[in-house]
Amino acid sequence: MDNTTNTELIEKLYAGGGLCAEEYEQLIAAHTPQEAQLLYSYADALRDKYYGKDVYLRGLIEFSSYCKNDCIYCGLRRSNTKAQRYRLSQEDILECCRGGYELGYRTFVLQSGEDMHFTDDMICRIVSAIKTEFPDCAVTLSIGEKSRESYQAYFGAGAERYLLRHETADPLHYAKLHPPELSAENRRRCLYDLKDIGYQVGTGFMVGSPYQTAENLAADMMFLKELRPHMVGIGPFIPHADTPFAKFPAGTAEQTIFMIALIRLTLPYALIPATTALATIDPIGREKGIKAGANVCMPNLSPMGVRKKYLLYDNKACTGDESAQCRACMERRLESIGFRSVVSRGDCKVKNTDTNL
Ligand code: SAM
Ligand code: SF4
Repeated sequence: MDNTTNTELIEKLYAGGGLCAEEYEQLIAAHTPQEAQLLYSYADALRDKYYGKDVYLRGLIEFSSYCKNDCIYCGLRRSNTKAQRYRLSQEDILECCRGGYELGYRTFVLQSGEDMHFTDDMICRIVSAIKTEFPDCAVTLSIGEKSRESYQAYFGAGAERYLLRHETADPLHYAKLHPPELSAENRRRCLYDLKDIGYQVGTGFMVGSPYQTAENLAADMMFLKELRPHMVGIGPFIPHADTPFAKFPAGTAEQTIFMIALIRLTLPYALIPATTALATIDPIGREKGIKAGANVCMPNLSPMGVRKKYLLYDNKACTGDESAQCRACMERRLESIGFRSVVSRGDCKVKNTDTNL
């Protein structure tokens, strides 16, 4: 590669020029605070251009902590015998939605481990019960890898959005984070099926996960360019004491925020959450993420009694507040940095992400 400076690369990206993997890698591997600030100011400007100062709030319902998988980084992995397991009934989930609806939420995100207790029929019944009672709300599922037929059935029942992080685009790195029965290839198959069916798709990855390199993160950016998802959720890896990665360091807020800004410049229209993991490693991480280009927050709507049982990593933030407190706290925090919380459905500004903006 020639001697293009980081500033030139950032200017090129902002001008819509697009970067290749080597250029992303250069930016990610080493940058000065001034270069990072330039990137953040461009990301802020682009988020403003597409979404203004609106930050969409989604109500998150973590409805089961059972999981058949054994992702090495995750506190819910099946080998973690110390994890406290729970599952909510359909009525419990509807009760969360009722509370959320009262608080103004118009999007419900249903997330869980891969819990085989919930058959496709049950998921479809839950989705259609929510859509029947709250026809003006969007339902997002985040329940892992399924067959195309299952995804199609949930879509038919009324689920419009699906979150499934690709976790890492490099198959070798993927293999270091997962047991052999899970593959980067199947994860991709799921994402392309979801997009093809017509879902608004969210993907993403952890920043600072064990063995991750700048080259891996550059590959993640290239994958985002290829998939063109509607939403990209990223957060720092945070170790969980009862997993084999307990001794690995957490990703940093700085590194995560840098990646958020890079994603905003790469996919200007994207919905990008400032995640709970970011708020966990930095008390004002969410605010920093929003200022660097993020535009979604997902406050917890799960019942208080189960909050502390859905522990993907240690010291998870916001597990002690009632839903109403979470909502009010988020609103106050956003207002303090000049943003407005919006509880409408908050669809992605482009319906077809294959269109270049
Ligand atoms: N089971 C579904 C799946 O894996 O897609 C949805 C729930 S899973 C807990 C949601 C996300 O949590 C994963 O995609 C992963 O990126 C993130 N996660 C898991 N363990 C984590 C950790 N130790 N630190 C940060 N994020 C973690
Ligand atoms: Fe299960 Fe998801 Fe955790 Fe993997 S990341 S162990 S699939 S809950």
